[in-house]
Amino acid sequence: MKQIVLFEKKLDRTPIEALSGNYGPNHYFMKRDDMLPFSFGGNKVRKAAEFYKDIKKREVDVVMTYGSNSSNHCRVIANMAAAMGLSCHIISPEENREVLLNTGMVERFGARIETCPVTEVAKTIERRKAAYEEEGKKPYFIAGGGHGNLGTEGYVKAYQEILDYEKENHIRFDYIFHASGTGATQAGLVCGKLLAGDRDRTIVGISIAREKERGRQVVKESIAEYLGEDFAKLYREEDLIFTDAYRLGGYGRFHEGVAETIEAVMCGEGIPMDTTYVGKAFWGMCQYMKEQNVTDKNILFIHTGGTPLFFDFLKAE
Ligand SMILES: *Cc1c(COP(=O)(O)O)cnc(C)c1O
Repeated sequence: MKQIVLFEKKLDRTPIEALSGNYGPNHYFMKRDDMLPFSFGGNKVRKAAEFYKDIKKREVDVVMTYGSNSSNHCRVIANMAAAMGLSCHIISPEENREVLLNTGMVERFGARIETCPVTEVAKTIERRKAAYEEEGKKPYFIAGGGHGNLGTEGYVKAYQEILDYEKENHIRFDYIFHASGTGATQAGLVCGKLLAGDRDRTIVGISIAREKERGRQVVKESIAEYLGEDFAKLYREEDLIFTDAYRLGGYGRFHEGVAETIEAVMCGEGIPMDTTYVGKAFWGMCQYMKEQNVTDKNILFIHTGGTPLFFDFLKAE
């Protein structure tokens, strides 16, 4: 198994920048997780760094995961497996056959893609795992989106980076916003907050696709799983804000307001955002602050990556 030097040590802290544009009557900052220096960055790299360490502790021949082969998750996992000299096997729902730039990268990383109806995903994964084991191979399965305690751990660490930045720069962020999908990013941030006892900081997950009830439940379960016995002691319902008010019809839907926001941030700051996650969440944050009439606060937006999707957005224009 080959090493990925970058993942052998603690990841370097990603930059936090003050934004120059006028996004409302508050002070806006952005944490650039899109700049994590592996496979075009993003939150899937933070999670992958944790899976990397776990894989290194075991005997593994093939890294398996679930997700659309056009996803950021599959791109990063396929890239990680290739860099480690391991095979990669992706179970992909046949309902989602969109061909994006991520798809081309996943193919070039040599991942094997197996499609099945979304209703048969669990069965297909089990069958495939068993088949590898029968061949004498050792598969390692990563849940879709990097969900689970290891993925959560990645964002507990990111929260610590935010605390370190605040201390060094004598600033305090009143709000943290980010795009929330499968929930591991939000679970990690909220766990970081609870463990640090940061009662008066608001973390808002802007839902990309899921409805409030289900999305919130999944994040809550991840928090409970990560905190274990401490959950009952630390968790309060008001610590978990997951809003579905800015889904705009769900995953990947185009919206004029989001496209305008992306152009403004690209031109004004030099920061690319995609339409599916980060652009939508940034736009949602601006709406949320306006609706809640929040002023004069320090707001941190976490750029969770998806850079290849920015180029898909340009191609589609
Ligand atoms: C996957 C992804 C998210 C959502 O992260 P979760 O941990 O699944 O909630 C947000 N932004 C980008 C760019 C992503 O690829």
